[in-house]
Amino acid sequence: MINLSIFSFLVTLIMGVALLLLWRRYRAARFTRDIGLYYLALAITPFLFSIYSQAGDRGQTLVLWGTVAFGSGYLTLLLLGMVHLAQRQISWAKIAAIILSLSLLMGYTMFQHSWPFASTVSGLITFSVGAIAWRWLWASEHSDRWAGPLLCLMGVAQCAQLAFGVDATAFQFTLNTLLRLVLGLVLFQTALQRVTTEAHRLREQFERLTWNSHQGVAIAYTQEIIYCNPAFLKIYGLTSLVQISPEWINAAIPEDELAAVMTLRHRVLDGTLEDAAWEGPRRRLDGTALRLRFAIWRTEWEGQPALQTVITDDTEHHDTMAALLHQATHDELTGLPNRGALLRRLRERCQTSRPDETFALLLLDIDRFKLFNDAYGHSMGDEVLKALTETLQRELTGVAELSRLGSDGFALLGRTALDAAQAQDLAQRVQRILAWPLVLPEQEFFVDASIGLALYPETGTEAESLLRAANAAMHEAKKIAGTSVVVAEQRFVLGSAEVLEQEQALRAGIINREFSLAYQPKVDSVNGALMGFEALARWHRAGVDAVSPVQFIAAAERTGLIGSLGMLLLSQACEQLLKWHEESVNLVPVAVNVSPLQLLDPGFPQLVGNTLKRYGVAPEWISLEVTESAAIGNMEQALAQLIQLRDLGLKVALDDFGTGFSSLAMLRTLPLSVVKIDRSLIDPMPAPDAIAVVQAICQLAATLKLRVVAEGVETEAQADAAQRAGCHEIQGYFYARPLSPEQALKWLLAGTRPIC
Ligand code: C2E
Ligand code: MG
Ligand code: MG
Repeated sequence: MINLSIFSFLVTLIMGVALLLLWRRYRAARFTRDIGLYYLALAITPFLFSIYSQAGDRGQTLVLWGTVAFGSGYLTLLLLGMVHLAQRQISWAKIAAIILSLSLLMGYTMFQHSWPFASTVSGLITFSVGAIAWRWLWASEHSDRWAGPLLCLMGVAQCAQLAFGVDATAFQFTLNTLLRLVLGLVLFQTALQRVTTEAHRLREQFERLTWNSHQGVAIAYTQEIIYCNPAFLKIYGLTSLVQISPEWINAAIPEDELAAVMTLRHRVLDGTLEDAAWEGPRRRLDGTALRLRFAIWRTEWEGQPALQTVITDDTEHHDTMAALLHQATHDELTGLPNRGALLRRLRERCQTSRPDETFALLLLDIDRFKLFNDAYGHSMGDEVLKALTETLQRELTGVAELSRLGSDGFALLGRTALDAAQAQDLAQRVQRILAWPLVLPEQEFFVDASIGLALYPETGTEAESLLRAANAAMHEAKKIAGTSVVVAEQRFVLGSAEVLEQEQALRAGIINREFSLAYQPKVDSVNGALMGFEALARWHRAGVDAVSPVQFIAAAERTGLIGSLGMLLLSQACEQLLKWHEESVNLVPVAVNVSPLQLLDPGFPQLVGNTLKRYGVAPEWISLEVTESAAIGNMEQALAQLIQLRDLGLKVALDDFGTGFSSLAMLRTLPLSVVKIDRSLIDPMPAPDAIAVVQAICQLAATLKLRVVAEGVETEAQADAAQRAGCHEIQGYFYARPLSPEQALKWLLAGTRPIC
């Protein structure tokens, strides 16, 4: 009997625990919880009986009360289990009423009658519950339909002792244990059936929902993908799930991302992270590049924790954005980074470089490229630019980053730290590269370029100031024939705040008429007679040292103020002429400088004509000086304006002649009257080579009937040499510095250098 009790106890206990464990896994199968607890209670009941038999009178009463509560509890659990098994609802009020009724019934039988009688009542209740369950579940197609009959049998077996006496105890025990075992197994199977059906239903619903989705959806355990929708296969270029192996999954993730992605997946799967999202490059099965966005979270798939992944294919959007970004930061013709990209790079370098770390910026501008385009056509010009780009890139890979700043302007940013000497070496290397011919399919071309070199931090510590300095140096280099390098000096640099301040002050300066003109005499090279004055702008800023016209004219050009400043100065020159006219019988023409930008304005000749008319100044008293670069850079536009000016009766001088290369051709094309030889050609005189160059210019000018002025003559030797070379007029410190109107009047009155 003891063995039988142990066997019954173990069976009931194991079934109870098993059912509870099943409930922990599948919470939806609530009946496994109820019946599991009911089994555990049944397993404990025999112990209550032995406690009762060993207790004293008071103890027995206590045990009886406990048993009443315990019995009515587990019978309620049995009823609840069947209600849940039949998937019915029961209110808490009903549960409370059932517990109360059962307690009263059990209490009455326990205290009035005997243990066997109480067991029989319990059996009858079990039988009743079984009958109800039978009614509810018999129609079911699953094994749960047997729960009712089995319970009825259990109820009957419990009553056996009362009907057949103590002899039937062993039989009752055995039968009850077997019935509990069978009922447990039935419930077990029912739970599994239900879970599987539910999982199937959910899976079908999930598949229906994701089937037509444009986003890829996949369900995976740690390594294995168990479900994916058609969009997922399409994104990766797969035909079926079979093609996805764990190796493929790992290979699809770039190496540098793999560890991070795996950690995220594990953390989401083990629940330490609720969800995760990331994006990155991936490859389709055929190798095509993709850009995908991933979102993952934990889910349950067929009873197991799994990862749900939603993939959005961002490739098109990403590629469009990348193309737009490339377009915005790169030059279309050469594919090189553009000015904006260079500025960004420069700012980065300025921010990340240590103050003791030097780097070099070279600006390179092809000389006379406009003429090249005019002569060979723009498509050939494009080919030359591409060939130059290729050569520079090939030769300077790893040494400098190349960008294209404008039509014929390039920048080279040294990749590594370079000291001043090494930067010079780099510039010379570029010069050597430029000396090679550019080989195009039909022809070979040679190009000259002017190179401006700026050094961080020596010339500037900000991107803008470095660029400005290199640009100014490049413009200086333009004045030297052939491919030449000029190193930027501090004077080329103005801090951005300073530039802004100067531009603001310039505006106020024009309104407040803070500008005046200084007049530098031009004399006859043979007899020193005064032939004319050049009017040179001066800015009198309160509390500020004299600002060079090179600086403020450039600022006026940048801000678009050059038009109004130019007209203001022209008016001042006219006023001065009228004044001198009143004060002196002698009068000489005054040459006013004109900015390239003024000359580009189609309304400029008319403005000049109107101003002269307003002051009543005849055109022969005013001439204009246009710098060579302006005329060359925009030949066609300049030509139209120059013709109109000539038609108005104004003489035009080509200023700073000799700083470019195409000058000789220019002289023939433009309607000019005077050519002013730049100081850089006069300075080396009387060296024989220098005299030869000046002589050649004078001879050509003579055939074109142009007058020649030598600029920047500082010594008597230069003056003599210029005169012998054929210059008609001389201008320079040797005769006079730019003068105030009063000093200039003295010259006018004397008709030559006045004797002080
Ligand atoms: P530029 O038109 O070539 O003027 C000649 C410059 O050379 C003047 O400098 C003059 O002072 C300087 N110079 C004359 N003789 C000598 C000499 O013997 N030795 C040396 N070292 N220099 C000499 P400045 O006045 O500083 O003007 C510089 C430039 O600024 C001018 O060059 C011109 O391009 C521009 N500029 C001056 N005034 C005006 C103006 O009213 N309008 C425009 N658009 N530009 C102007
Ligand atoms: Mg001039
Ligand atoms: Mg000049």
